[in-house]
Amino acid sequence: MKTYIKRPKILIIYTGGTIGMIENPETHALQPFDFDHLIDNVPKVKKLDYEIEHFQFDPPIDSSNMDPSHWRDIALAIEEHYDFYDGFVVLHGTDTMAFTASALSFMLENLSKPVIITGSQLPIGEVRTDGEENLITALQVAAAIDEKGRPRVQEVAILFENYLWRGNRATKMSADNFNAFKSFNYPELAEIGLDIEYNTPYLRQMPPRPLKVCTDMDSNVMFLELNPGMNEKTLDHLLHTPGIKGIVLKTYGAGNSPSYPWFIKLIREAVDRGVVIVNVTQCVNGGVNCTLYETGNSLSAAGVISGYDITSEAAITKLMFLFGMQYSPSMVKKYMASDLCGEVTIP
Ligand code: ASP
Repeated sequence: MKTYIKRPKILIIYTGGTIGMIENPETHALQPFDFDHLIDNVPKVKKLDYEIEHFQFDPPIDSSNMDPSHWRDIALAIEEHYDFYDGFVVLHGTDTMAFTASALSFMLENLSKPVIITGSQLPIGEVRTDGEENLITALQVAAAIDEKGRPRVQEVAILFENYLWRGNRATKMSADNFNAFKSFNYPELAEIGLDIEYNTPYLRQMPPRPLKVCTDMDSNVMFLELNPGMNEKTLDHLLHTPGIKGIVLKTYGAGNSPSYPWFIKLIREAVDRGVVIVNVTQCVNGGVNCTLYETGNSLSAAGVISGYDITSEAAITKLMFLFGMQYSPSMVKKYMASDLCGEVTIP
């Protein structure tokens, strides 16, 4: 690995999350606390000899309260500081980290610098915290360059415990394990052991182009998760949600749903009203293959489009992004069936 002639310059964007939380003495519940408390608990950061500056959400938040306005704040902070830093580390709660990572991957077009998102399962002040390692490693990944002096990582990625994952391919898979994230349909971008082993063929390589930041997200989208027994009245009500433009339909197995005539009719009517419905499997691994079973076939015949192997986090944020760009339903369908930034494998 090449060494920097100058010290790497990293901007930490602290949004909140368990990593910086402390216990409320009255309720004993964890609540977000400020950046100085967090960084004081990681004196090792100084050993890195990086130039580190920070930008903090005021107040820092639990990521369950994250919404598109917060994604916009993160994206604008990156845009404002893009030319002055070698990389960015976003400290974030784990609960909605995969949504933020996906949203940022769409919002930051032509990104060619690392945006590494991390957090922790235990607060940084706890003796057994995973936050210290995660923060240090995230900073190292954000500063890493290859033999030609280019950033190793030129995309939005999630660093957690032993792995670096593509942000728009990752899912939170555990509420208590230190390895809380995984990409079930895409290999790790790096494995963290004694060394940081980059999985180079799977990393995005971006030709240098000016960063383009698009922050308008349209929230008129929702998940509709199938369950056996869902009745006609419930489905009809959900499909008539006022203002709804896009639905991620979470189906069974390889993209299957009930094939009852009333079910398919309601779906077809919603599609005819201009609602874009994307078929995403409830399984964490594998994707949608509508040609495999009759039950999946009827959904595509009704105008539902395949989400292939996309995660539900990436599918819903991609819909928000595409409708935010003011695209028509047919353009949204076209882009949903294309790979914009490594989020989906189109067969
Ligand atoms: N509720 C916390 C959050 O997402 C959980 C965490 O950070 O692990 O902000």
